[in-house]
Amino acid sequence: MTHRHAVVLGGSMAGLLTARVLTEHFERVTIVERDEVEGDWSAESVEHAVRRGVPQGRHAHGLLAAGLNVVEGLFPGAARELAAAGVPVGDVLGNVRFCANGYRLKQAPIGMEALSFSRPYLEAYVRAKVFARPGVTVRGGTDVVGVEADAARTRVTGARIQARGGDPEVLGADLVVDATGRGSRAPRWLAELGYEQPREERLHVDLAYVSRRYRVDPALLDGDIAIIIGPSAAAPRGGAVMLQEGGRAVITLFGILGDHAPLDDAGYRAYAKRLPLPYVSDIIEASEPLEDEAVKFRYPGSTRYRYDRLRRFPLGFVVLGDAMCSFNPMYGQGMSVAGVEALKLGESLARGGELDALRFFRAVRPVVDIPWQIATGGDAALPGVDGPRDARTRMVNRYTNRYMDRLYATAAHDEVVSLAFSRVTNLLDPPTALLRPGIARRVLGRRRPATV
Ligand SMILES: Cc1cc2nc3c(=O)[nH]c(=O)nc-3n(C[C@H](O)[C@H](O)[C@H](O)COP(=O)(O)OP(=O)(O)OC[C@H]3O[C@@H](n4cnc5c(N)ncnc54)[C@H](O)[C@@H]3O)c2cc1C
Repeated sequence: MTHRHAVVLGGSMAGLLTARVLTEHFERVTIVERDEVEGDWSAESVEHAVRRGVPQGRHAHGLLAAGLNVVEGLFPGAARELAAAGVPVGDVLGNVRFCANGYRLKQAPIGMEALSFSRPYLEAYVRAKVFARPGVTVRGGTDVVGVEADAARTRVTGARIQARGGDPEVLGADLVVDATGRGSRAPRWLAELGYEQPREERLHVDLAYVSRRYRVDPALLDGDIAIIIGPSAAAPRGGAVMLQEGGRAVITLFGILGDHAPLDDAGYRAYAKRLPLPYVSDIIEASEPLEDEAVKFRYPGSTRYRYDRLRRFPLGFVVLGDAMCSFNPMYGQGMSVAGVEALKLGESLARGGELDALRFFRAVRPVVDIPWQIATGGDAALPGVDGPRDARTRMVNRYTNRYMDRLYATAAHDEVVSLAFSRVTNLLDPPTALLRPGIARRVLGRRRPATV
């Protein structure tokens, strides 16, 4: 134990996973969270527990293989424990039906597990485990209003917080971690301390998730635990069915650039019928909705703050999770990337001495670059999305899109290609793995099969 007190701002997935990592390096870790939060993950306590601070919790949330590896590493036995509590478990390729560009990708067991849960349940599990760690304190129902710095403004010395109905107070800390999500005010705090703000990169997609919970007979999924239909250029809308703990399922429909699913029953069902493939709509038609209307979450676009490009940064402060980079949720990356960032923070602290935040931001650059490239590259291939404008990038994108069209078509029949693609989308391999000779030969050597 080399440091005394760390304060984590925000108690969602990024904050919790980070707090877990920090318990190995700090005597005390305090999590400050606006919502009242409990350390109980029993199914009854979580039943309808979508928190105000995490409204996306109502919608389909998948944990990629890279993210499950992090969770298992930090909480050994987590998958077994969650499965024993009723969370559907299956093989990451064998039991997750993934459809891209109008093709259903070939499924085959690869011996790696996937879980299908409600977002509040996963978070409650992680929260209970973190809260039970020695040295962890939780300040629920408490707003973070700013950071404190020393007179020279070279070091952040704590967080300014205010409990609901209480007086403002300062929580002193050796390290303050901002994990307050997309609405992070860290860029403003930096400016107030006289630092340059990180440049913001953004790709506008005007996405909406529209979700409804159902009671679904698992037999309808034919052995799968989740079905995901990604958008295609011809039909840029998608949907997902995810079985969950408690015998429920969430069904999410998503569309971009204002093509949003209606909330009423008839409109919702009609929208689902026009997805590139029928699997989601078939399940909707055969299942009992648990709510009269669907709920909507609007997501303007992926946003990345380039902390890795800054030249000056105060000591004792760091930013991660959605506060650093928020990815279009269609690619299911946010929680997994936050988990890998938390591990990287642990690695930086393990070097001993003072945390060098700029070095940390550069160390996580590749961790963010790859999912960012997948999400923004995928979005830019959709009609109407305003991708990069320069001629060279557009030409590269045109070739990439053609190659990917062929790859999806091949992956519908070819297990090797389907597995390679799945490893990339699960953040186990970089996208360049799809260009390896063994894959490229299979992709380019085949005639295009008909859409399933
Ligand atoms: C519709 C949708 C679907 C998604 N689907 C997936 C998916 O399938 N897979 C996946 O991995 N990711 C998905 N994500 C992304 C995922 O939800 C986030 O990446 C993940 O929660 C990590 O975010 P975070 O902890 O950094 O921030 P958030 O989850 O946004 O949490 C921020 C926390 O900080 C608290 N907070 C904020 N401001 C303050 C303040 N001033 N004071 C005190 N507390 C504060 C909030 O209450 C909240 O608890 C999805 C996102 C959306 C919007």
